[in-house]
Amino acid sequence: MNVVPPQHAILQRDNRTYAITPRIPAGLLHRHHLLAIAAVVEKYHIPIVKITSGHRLALVGIEEEDLAHVYEELGMSPGTATELCLHYVQVCPGTEVCRFGVRDALGLGIRLEGLLEGRQLPAKLKVGVSGCQFCCGESFVRDIGLIGKKSGWTVVFGGHSGNRPRTADTVGEDLDDDAAVALVERCLACYVQLARKRERTSRFVERFGVENFRLEVGRP
Ligand code: SF4
Repeated sequence: MNVVPPQHAILQRDNRTYAITPRIPAGLLHRHHLLAIAAVVEKYHIPIVKITSGHRLALVGIEEEDLAHVYEELGMSPGTATELCLHYVQVCPGTEVCRFGVRDALGLGIRLEGLLEGRQLPAKLKVGVSGCQFCCGESFVRDIGLIGKKSGWTVVFGGHSGNRPRTADTVGEDLDDDAAVALVERCLACYVQLARKRERTSRFVERFGVENFRLEVGRP
């Protein structure tokens, strides 16, 4: 049986039990997920299940000795809450179901999650993908944001919704899926190379300079 490393569980205020946030790519839950979640909640007497702001379910109040069993029976990868890596890709329904959608946000969000999951980064990273300019994926306050327009994707970088909020800067427009992903890769390459440890994209782009950053990532 895999032993769940401590970094995949968060100690709670009672100093005894833990919370976990299994990874749910693009926030899409399928029947087998729901059945597995219901089963572990019942079996391990998990008292709280909370939908988080980042498309995740927090299962709260798990005994330490149950953690590995819960993950194993869920069959879901551990999500991240404190590590310096991708935390989540927040995705709106896009053209899949929303009548306002002009771009396939779910498709691109799932692609980005697969691409970025597991990478070591200077700080935690949150991504928001919106299928139109209503921006339900909160793209302008995420480290990397994508907003769909009829002419293509707009890519923004350096947003933050925390205690020093910042609106992300536009670094590319009118891009197809492949070009948008390539630009995200260039943004991350620059950030990984030049940011300080634990420096979020918002603080990095303020220190480095927006125009310098645009020049750096504008080269294909
Ligand atoms: S951003 Fe646009 S496409 Fe996405 S859910 Fe909102 S209205 Fe629909």
